[in-house]
Amino acid sequence: MYTTTTPVRIDAPVRRLIDTVTPGGHARYLRVQPEPGATVNGCFSNVCAKAARDGGRRLCGWQLWEWPGVLVEAEFHAVWLSPAGEMVEITPKPHGEGTILFVPDERRAYRGEVVDNVRIALHEDQLVQHFIRVSRAIVQVMTRNGPPAAQAHIPAEQIAPLRRVQQFLGHAIDAQLREHDPCPCGSGLRYRQCHGHELELALA
Ligand SMILES: [Zn+2]
Repeated sequence: MYTTTTPVRIDAPVRRLIDTVTPGGHARYLRVQPEPGATVNGCFSNVCAKAARDGGRRLCGWQLWEWPGVLVEAEFHAVWLSPAGEMVEITPKPHGEGTILFVPDERRAYRGEVVDNVRIALHEDQLVQHFIRVSRAIVQVMTRNGPPAAQAHIPAEQIAPLRRVQQFLGHAIDAQLREHDPCPCGSGLRYRQCHGHELELALA
């Protein structure tokens, strides 16, 4: 569930995503060339280490993802700008993608903060909207106490219920469930009138 991958092309929703995060931005495909020692979730430190070793500098921007048929997503990210001015993706990918789609965003610097992903639904359905809102709520809880260093102090019971709802929605969306289908809880009601209704109240 919730398996995003590199968008195969820059279609209208991807273009809209680019214009949301960095208006007029120019996205390009970069080949993934993992640097020895680089970690999947450590793009900012990977690039700092690389620049300290080989020169060049860190270039911040957005890595673009797609959950096919469901949503497109922009993740705050950094690549290495070589001394020759070439953008190089040195961070390995969780699902082994060979290329990424990246749009540079020089207005943004990384200061160790948690930056939420920006997500755009590919169709109007309450399940996808709820998935996006729950995902945002998780980051809001995580960052409520300040910088990432404080995250260790967030009680697990504040995050775990949200993660369970996120998973529930992810599985339902993967199973092609729509808001007017029977709720997966087995109540016999439509999702919209059952758990969709409860979640609507909870998210409000
Ligand atoms: Zn239900």
